[in-house]
Formats: sequence, C-alpha cells, structure tokens
Amino acid sequence: MFDTSNRLTNTSSMIVQEPFDRASHAALVQIQKVLQLEARKGFADTAATFGIARFVSDRTRTLLTNAGPTASQHIRDLDGLLADYVRLARHERERRVAEALAVVNGLLGNEQRQPVSATIARSNPKPESSQPTPSATLAPGSSEIVSPSSSVRTPAKPSMPRAPARAKVASLSDSVQLMPGVGPSRVKQLEQMGVRTVRDLLRLYPRRHIDYSNVQRINSLLFGHTTTIQGEVIAIDEQRTRTGKPLVDIVVHDGTGQVHAVFFNPHITRVLHIGALVSMSGRIEQVRGNLALSNPEWESLDRENLSTGRLTPVYPLVKGLYQKTLRTLMRLSLDAALPLVQDHLPEELRTQEHLLGLQESTDWMHFPDGPTPEDARRNLELAHRRLAFDEFFVFQLGLVQRKRQNQAQPGNAIAIDCTALRAFAEALPFGFTGAQTRATAEILRDMERPDPMTRLLQGDVGSGKTVVAATAALAAIRAGFQVGLMAPTEILAEQHYRGLSKLFAAAPEEFQPRIGYLSGKIGGVERTEVYAKTVGGELDLVIGTHALIQGGLEFQNLGLAIVDEQHRFGVAQRTALRSKGANADILVMTATPIPRTLALTLHGDLDVSTLDELPPGRQPIETHWILERQRAHAWRFIREQVDKGRQAFVVFPLVEESEMVDARAAVVEHERLSQEVFPDLRLGLLHGRMKPAEKDEVMVRFHDHEIDILVSTSVVEVGIDVPNATVMVIEGAERFGLSQLHQFRGRVGRGTEQSTCILISGDTSPEGRQRLQALVDSQDGFKLAQIDLDLRGPGDFLGTRQSGLPELDFATFADVRDLERAREAAERVLDEDPELESAKYALLKARLDAFWATAVTDAN
Ligand code: ADP
Ligand code: MG
Repeated sequence: MFDTSNRLTNTSSMIVQEPFDRASHAALVQIQKVLQLEARKGFADTAATFGIARFVSDRTRTLLTNAGPTASQHIRDLDGLLADYVRLARHERERRVAEALAVVNGLLGNEQRQPVSATIARSNPKPESSQPTPSATLAPGSSEIVSPSSSVRTPAKPSMPRAPARAKVASLSDSVQLMPGVGPSRVKQLEQMGVRTVRDLLRLYPRRHIDYSNVQRINSLLFGHTTTIQGEVIAIDEQRTRTGKPLVDIVVHDGTGQVHAVFFNPHITRVLHIGALVSMSGRIEQVRGNLALSNPEWESLDRENLSTGRLTPVYPLVKGLYQKTLRTLMRLSLDAALPLVQDHLPEELRTQEHLLGLQESTDWMHFPDGPTPEDARRNLELAHRRLAFDEFFVFQLGLVQRKRQNQAQPGNAIAIDCTALRAFAEALPFGFTGAQTRATAEILRDMERPDPMTRLLQGDVGSGKTVVAATAALAAIRAGFQVGLMAPTEILAEQHYRGLSKLFAAAPEEFQPRIGYLSGKIGGVERTEVYAKTVGGELDLVIGTHALIQGGLEFQNLGLAIVDEQHRFGVAQRTALRSKGANADILVMTATPIPRTLALTLHGDLDVSTLDELPPGRQPIETHWILERQRAHAWRFIREQVDKGRQAFVVFPLVEESEMVDARAAVVEHERLSQEVFPDLRLGLLHGRMKPAEKDEVMVRFHDHEIDILVSTSVVEVGIDVPNATVMVIEGAERFGLSQLHQFRGRVGRGTEQSTCILISGDTSPEGRQRLQALVDSQDGFKLAQIDLDLRGPGDFLGTRQSGLPELDFATFADVRDLERAREAAERVLDEDPELESAKYALLKARLDAFWATAVTDAN
C-alpha cells in the first residue's frame, strides 16, 4: 500500500514553480494567520503589535528574495493591498483582508497543488465529480496562476473567519441551547459538566493545550516529532489490520512529498475524500516501516483550524461528546458571546498590572492565537496570567475587606494579668523558646487593644503552640472572659482537653480555669449541663469539636476563640465561633507552616505569628527513602519495632483525586498486609470514607495500643498524638507534596523513643530523588514548604493542603510574586474605595459577591 511515493514526486511536469523555501512558507502562513486573527478581532488593526501593514511588509520582503516572477507580482499586490490599512474605513479593511487572504491562500494553495491528485487514487470511495478538485481552478492549459482571485482554490469566503455573532445570544445567562447544533442530548452532556449557560460554556476552560503549531513540509518530517502537515488527500485505502480490525490508510501530498495517515475508524471514509485539502496533526510514527501519522487530528483546510496547526485545546469530556465537536461549539460560542463579556477589572488596574482584557484572555485561553506560534504561546501565557491574577485578586479583595471590617468592629480590650501569666509560666516544666516568647507577646498585644484580634499562629509539629494558646486563654480568663477552643476531630479535641488540663493543673490554684468539654458524643444530661454552665459563666474554658458552633451552646461572655488546625475549617466556621461572643478575639493554630509572605497573602484576613524554632533536645526523626522493590526492608523494620512493643503507621498514596478510589486501595492493601505480611499482628484501617465516629474509634484504639499497625490514607495527617508510634512508612511517597510528607512524618517522634520514617518511592527521576532527599536532609517544615513551593508552584502546593480555601483554578499558573501583587492591588483598591461603591467597581463588586457566596458554601 505504500508504493505510490515515487510516482508522485516524479510528476514534475505539473510543477508550476519550485515550492517556497521553508522560510517563505513560514512567512506566508504567518501572514495568513495574522489576517484571520485581524478579521476575528473585528478589523481594528490589533492583530499585530505594530499594525498589519508593517507585519506584512516585513514578511513580504523575505518572500520577494526567493520568489519567481509570478509569485513576486502577487506578493507585491499583497503588500499594496495592506500598505495603508490603518487609514482605511472598516468595510474597506474587511474587503482588503479578504482579498489579501485570497492571495495568500492562492500562493499557499499553488504550492500544495503541484501533484495532480485524482490520477493517483487507487481506491476512491466517492464519485470524484462531486468534489471540486484543485485543478479546476487552474486556467485551462496553463501552468501558471492567472490572477490572485482565480488562483484561490479554496474560495476566500470559507477561509475567512465566520461572520461574528451568527448565533443569537443576547445575554451570557442564555441557555447553551441557543447555540447552533446544541440539541437536547448535547444539552444533557454539557449539563453533566456543569454547563448550562453560555457563560458556563465560556468558562469551561481546556485542561491543557497540545502544541500542534509546528506546520511542516512533508519532506522534512522526522520520526517522533509532533507536527502538522497540510496538503491534499491523494489516496484512500480501506484495509484490515492483521487482527482483522478496519484500518483506513490515507495518503496526503503537499508538493514536497507525501505521507500516510492511518485511521482505525472506518467512518473517516465517509467524511474525507480524494482531493480534499486537509490539515493533520499528530506524532510521526513508524507504521509498517513507513513514516506515518497514526490517528491524527484532522480537519479541512478551508475552514479556520481549531484542532490542527495551532495550540489545540483539550477539554474535559463526557461520554458521547468529542473534542472536535466541543471545539467547534466553543469557537462558535466565543464568536457569538465574547462581545457580551464585560471586564470587571477596571482599565486602570489592568494597565498597572499589565493584564489582558477579559474578552481577549477568554478567547486565548481557549484558542490561543497570534501571528506566529511564539506569539500564540505567549498569548496563552498572558491569558493564564490574567485569569490567575483575577481569581486571586477577587479572593484577596474579600479577605482584605473582611479583615478591615473586623478591625473596624469594637472588640474587647483585655487587661493583662501579668502576675497570673508569670505564675503560670513559672509552673511549667520548661522555659519558653525565643519563638514562643515572641508569638505570645504579639498575641497579648493584640488582645490588649480594643479592636478584635484575628491572628494565625503557625508552627511546625511539636513547636509548642499549645502552651502559647494556653497563655492567651489564661489572659482572657483572668480579664473575666470565657474561652472556646475548637478542634476538627473528636480525638484532637480530647487531646487538647487532656493536654490543657494537665498544663493548667501545674499552675497555682487560684489561677486555674474551670474547663468543660463538648463534642457530638456528649449528649443528654451531660450536654445540658455543659450548656448551662457555659451560659451561666461557671466554665472558663470550653474545649470541643464542631459541637461548639453547631448546637445550642451559648457563652455568657466569650472573649477568645481558639481554632486548631485551621486548614480543616473554612472561613465560615471561624466566623461562626467568633460570633458566639461580642467580637471575640480569634486565634487560629495551624501545623502546616508556609513561608511568611505567602501566609500573609493566603490568610489575607489574618495577622500571622510564627513559631520557627523547636524546643531544645528534640530527637530528629531518622528518615530514609527506598525503592518499591526494597519494600520488604520496611516490613521487616516494622516487625522489629512491633516486637519491641512499638506501633507503626503505613500511609497509602492518593491513587486518584477521589476519596472513594483511595479508600478502596487502602482497603485492599490493609487486607493484603493483614493476610500476607503481618498475619499475626493487629492491624487497623483508616480512610476518608469512614464516618467521623468510626475514624475516631480507630484512632482511639490505636492510641490505646489495641492496634499495632495503622493502615491509612492521607486522612491521618491531622495532628494526632500517639507517643508509642515510632515508625511511619509512606507508600508512593513521590505522589505527595513535601509539606504533606513532613506532616505525616510528624505523626511519629512524639515520645522519648527514637523514631523512623521510611519513604517508599517508585520514582527514580532526578527531580523525584531531589524532593525525597530534601526530606531526608531537613526536618524544618518552613524550609521544606519553601522547597515544595519552588518545585511545584503555588497551585499544586495549595491543592494538596486542604486549605479550606475556595478552589482556585488558575493559581497553578501564577507565581508567588503574582499572588503578592494581587494582594497589594486589592489593598490599593480598598484604600481608595472600601465598599467598592463607585461606578467603575460595580462589576467587580458583583463578581466579588458571587465568588464569596460560593466560597463560603464550599468551605467544608
Ligand atoms: P504543637 O502543638 O506545636 O505541635 P505542642 O504544643 O503539642 O506542639 O508541644 C509539643 C511538646 O513540646 C509538648 O509535649 C510540650 O509540652 C513540649 N514543649 C512545648 N514548649 C516547650 C519548650 N519551650 N521546651 C520544651 N518542651 C516544650
Ligand atoms: Mg498541636
């Protein structure tokens, strides 16, 4: 089937002129693209940075150096057509662009036309006469193009972008049903992806783009390259593979050579025919000893290319919906609806931050375009940047506004009882670290002030946050206020209850607070009693779970709300606890430290105190990483430790972004470990699909040493304290972020025994090694977070932290500096107009409200 090649390239009698050299070809394609773009952008002379005329004349100069006499005339015509473009009225511009495109297409088409197509066909499923063949546009008997207009094989009209707004969309809130080709079944498919309105559709961004912008001559194709070819179909051959599956072999010729394209779907013969001008993109592979495209993307050359010869968008799909269909629909919708998109960022801000407009960035986010492939790639980056900034900016506006509103509220000025605090500190079995002293001072200073405190206390596992929080609690209590402390799980809440009770027990009796406990488990009489004592002021400190904000708990005089492990709660829960008092102070504690500037930005509504120093005398956790095939070492080590009376964690990785799948994997592994590896030991299982009560129960049994080995998914991350656990084994370690691995590691090393962390990794790439080695080398959570951030960028970094933040789709594309700029911009805007009341912020305000409405419901 691959025997036609020589015949083809030897049909030199029909060659009109030498094909353009590579540079000229590229220049022509660039001109074609810029003209198409210009048309799409409404003939405003905005397609090229220095204007159409300049762009074209720069390239025609190159073209002229190599062109034959006839081509030269067309190229000069082209230049002439566009020379005074900037001074023309719109309708004239439209005409000139169409004409110029016709010339360009003629020149390009002439190149491709050289082989006479139809004669080569060996198997032709369609009657040829129904297809216009390229030769029909040649003047009879002539081997030259007669005039630009007659030289256009593909009529100028179809190669022009579609007339804008063919679909009648009056509002972005219109149903997608208004779009052509969208019937009831399409509506259903789109609905499955959350797309109902035209606005939803425009926001259905591609997951990625494939770079097919490299349009190549067939004679320069190289094995393994991803490329686009453009030419004429000269043969279609239906065959079967060795296993009997249908296979369609298509030969495409472009004047420099020919290449095979192999399709495994016979449907192609119904839509492609001999003589068709096509653009095909894919990877050049070897099929039966020949270079070939295997199942390439393809489309007709006489339409604007959406799938080939460009940065091609790849969308999320549902069953029955194909990329090509969605691309076409998206292009139509963009053309119809983009003019309706209003930018909520005021012009002034966009200029300051060098951001694209919203219409342009939306367009380029889907179909990045530009006169050259480099421009298209850059434009895609600019679109990403704009949307990332946008998203983060709106988020920051909300946070900064919230923070300012908080500060404007009257709070409680707490009179600090230095005697009591000193007595408490002196009763402790240890002295404060420098970091603890600093953080405590910052907190007490806030509490003394009349406006409410909203502060984050971040510090690595074991850095001693509890005693700092206890000091703050005592300060509030001594000033006559009550304190509430909320933790995300029952077991953590109990842990705090026990820990704080013990800490305060050492203090002089007259300073000891009365402590109560409340959780979902506490019911009936007991609960009623806690309620009564809290509202009656007989309890000073109430520790508990969500039960603190969910039930009917009332404080008599809540002055300080402490929230542990803030990333498990959303902004809403925090606010709920605060509102149990008259603008109580809030102290949020987190054990997932992040670099300070990022912390200020992410927790934009909080002030930040940092414990960046561990208490002295901590034993570092011995950390090793091994390969999957060395796994048996880890099991042996666990057995040794269990024999010594210790306990172990085994963490399994995220298999997919789905708790369900993870849970199943953990269940299977738990089964395997219990039956095959540790049949004689007591194993427990913990995963995200278990009910909170079940999880708590397993944790309690582990804590009470009724379980030797706890098999878990990543849910074990929360700050659970089991001093007897000395081994942490993490499977698939390469799939977790460094900070998260560090968190897991922090589950051991809490007692006096030497603890060990074993990372099992299947990844031996240099980057993979580098990441795991960082963990072996460092026990410093801040340093690891910084490395993590540098390696993965803020998007992934945040993505795995369950940060309680609203979902940020674009943060991945931004760098930290951009996030900080967004923060600064938010502050600037709110300095100028705290309530966003002026007209220029009207759209922004609407956007802000919408964003926070979903953000608050999303949080937990
Ligand atoms: P975190 O909550 O930050 O993970 P904890 O507050 O639970 O850490 O403290 C971890 C352990 O360190 C506790 O046993 C605590 O008593 C102890 N600790 C706290 N501060 C100090 C200190 N300054 N010197 C010695 N030990 C300390
Ligand atoms: Mg803690």
